[in-house]
Amino acid sequence: LKVENINVYYGAIHALKGISVGVKQVEIVTLIGANGAGKSTLLQTINLLQGYQGDLRLFGVRPDKVTATDLRRRCSMVFQEALLLDGSVAENVAWPLRFRRVADAEIKSRVQQALIDFGCEHLSDRSAKHLSGGEAQRVCIARALATEPELLLLDEPFAALDIAIRSSLLEEIRSVAKRRGITVVLVSHSFSDVLDFAERAVVLIAGRIRQDNRPEVLL
Ligand code: ATP
Repeated sequence: LKVENINVYYGAIHALKGISVGVKQVEIVTLIGANGAGKSTLLQTINLLQGYQGDLRLFGVRPDKVTATDLRRRCSMVFQEALLLDGSVAENVAWPLRFRRVADAEIKSRVQQALIDFGCEHLSDRSAKHLSGGEAQRVCIARALATEPELLLLDEPFAALDIAIRSSLLEEIRSVAKRRGITVVLVSHSFSDVLDFAERAVVLIAGRIRQDNRPEVLL
């Protein structure tokens, strides 16, 4: 991923101001910054959900209308709030695979593996709308990984969870990402959360990158 001199405006609000940053394949990076710094805007720009000015290359390709959907399908994004639909946990994990027209047998095995990887196989037949916060976010991570993304974008998915659950989920994501060679960009408010998780921390302040270094150096 490479973004160069990216600017994003929401009307009169200049949310990203000349951002340039690159992320290498298999790297684990966090975006850190205060409320309103532009972290979510940058993540959504990377996921091609947000209009921008400047140069962006995802998987080495400059997106246009033709390539955007294909590029986006090589990414998975998990949001702060668990976005689950009616139906069972297994059905929720399966739906992005159905969009991608994956064969039924393959869907079944990928859903099962993703639920096992994130310790939610016991929830498979439960209604996705009636899970605890931690269970629901586990299912969202399992769903994101079932699509076998090359780039995983995490927008503070654990902000509402307690610290013990947060650090164990981050550890599980790190280990799956390293095992499968997935590049990860995680948005976080908390240095302590990401100290053991990320190889690099990019600090955003008021729409600009102010630091970009190993997390322990930034402390
Ligand atoms: P938080 O940690 O609070 O989630 P953030 O770092 O993710 O914040 P963004 O959500 O990217 O910040 O917002 C960056 C700036 O752009 C803020 O000033 C915000 O108010 C503004 N903004 C974000 N989305 C919109 C929108 N849809 N319309 C107008 N302004 C927006």
